Amino acid sequence: MKKSIYAVGEHPPLGVVPERMHASVIRRERYGAPVHAFQMEELPVPRIGHRQVLVYVMAAGINYNNVWAALGKPVDVISARQKRGAAEEYHIGGSEASGIVWAVGQGVVDVAVGDRVVISSCRWDEHARDIRLGRDPMASESQSVWGYEENFGSFAQFTCVEDYQVHRKPANLSWEAAAAYMLTGATAYRQLTHWAPHVVRPGDPVLIWGGAGGLGCMAIQIVSAMGGRPVAVVSDDDKAEYCRRLGALGTINRLDFNHWGRMPDLDDAAAMTEWTAGVRAFGKQFWQVLGERRNPRIVFEHSGESTIPTSMYVCDIDGMVVICGGTSGYMADVDLRFLWMRQKRLQGSHFANTQECAAITELVARGLVDPCVSTTAPFAQVGQLHQMMYDNEHPPGNMAVLVNANEPGMRDIAL
Ligand code: NAP
Repeated sequence: MKKSIYAVGEHPPLGVVPERMHASVIRRERYGAPVHAFQMEELPVPRIGHRQVLVYVMAAGINYNNVWAALGKPVDVISARQKRGAAEEYHIGGSEASGIVWAVGQGVVDVAVGDRVVISSCRWDEHARDIRLGRDPMASESQSVWGYEENFGSFAQFTCVEDYQVHRKPANLSWEAAAAYMLTGATAYRQLTHWAPHVVRPGDPVLIWGGAGGLGCMAIQIVSAMGGRPVAVVSDDDKAEYCRRLGALGTINRLDFNHWGRMPDLDDAAAMTEWTAGVRAFGKQFWQVLGERRNPRIVFEHSGESTIPTSMYVCDIDGMVVICGGTSGYMADVDLRFLWMRQKRLQGSHFANTQECAAITELVARGLVDPCVSTTAPFAQVGQLHQMMYDNEHPPGNMAVLVNANEPGMRDIAL
């Protein structure tokens, strides 16, 4: 007999959708430290609409966007959604997952109940006028992030997604590995391949901030796979070793420098001299690690306020700083003289389109990019893992929680 709710890991028969589910949930009154913001609750299973798919979540990846969601800053995601007409007083985060298709809505093509899948993180309106006029869906005004801006993400037994978000799970991956590469991997892939002519060419030096972090570990591998020469920035020796094992040519420890943050005022000559000495020493260290006097043609950015002045300074003439985040803050300084005289490019980049998600999945399936899962935790520890991320105390690589998967290392289940 169908039950109204199943325990985590107590699999219902394929295609049987219960009324309710277990979820790790953020509420407005709990905004703050991620470890408290996320709490396990029972909630209704979301209903799917036209061209939507209900996925039984086996594992979910942990990402920085739900650190922001837990804090309620810089965006209160629950209030923002309610302003757009949503009724829910809660947020189910989680912007990547592996799982099994449990139900499909009308009009769904190329996806069937029972498919083993990986879910990509963004959605858009395929009928949006800008997309119909040829704009990349990631640049569409209709684009938004599932499990962050949108509700019913992967920190729940079931999640509701659009059919184009669904990709075939590489069969060689465990549920947790399949759940942990898409968001950081596809974002890094777009940063390094989308913004022609600034794509990684064989031999190109590339500077990668946070090389041992979620984005960084994927960027090192993608740059290597494309024949580039990745140099990673880290904050301790273990992370340095980790990056070298992944394929970094060498590393720079950012704690050896102290010129970080906003730039000094141009009128403060002494402070400017000190800042310039710091940034030049960093640049020299880059040359030393690279083994030649060449600046990075591409700087892979996401650390933001603290590092942008350095990124813009060390970036090669005619090179690109490509940025997708601002972990250390958003108000960054750019000395525009270097931007125009040296004809550098500062390029924003945000997640990835469907083709880029398919491309990173292919690289992972072929073993050219490892998902780098360092931590696999039980479902109830979603808050703890986000807290570790917020405190920058998480181990190198990507992290995942098992949702309905019964144990780490499982690649499939018999249903
Ligand atoms: P992560 O796993 O926490 O890695 C970030 C790394 O940044 C850390 O390992 C840390 O390495 C480094 N870092 C922290 N504070 C720093 C500072 N003040 N200066 C320089 N480096 C610092 O996070 P992630 O998953 O890679 O995500 C990084 C950022 O990108 C987040 O802000 C996230 O929201 C954003 N993001 C955006 C998108 C998008 O589509 N727009 C997608 C993914 C992520 P060390 O301490 O070793 O230097």
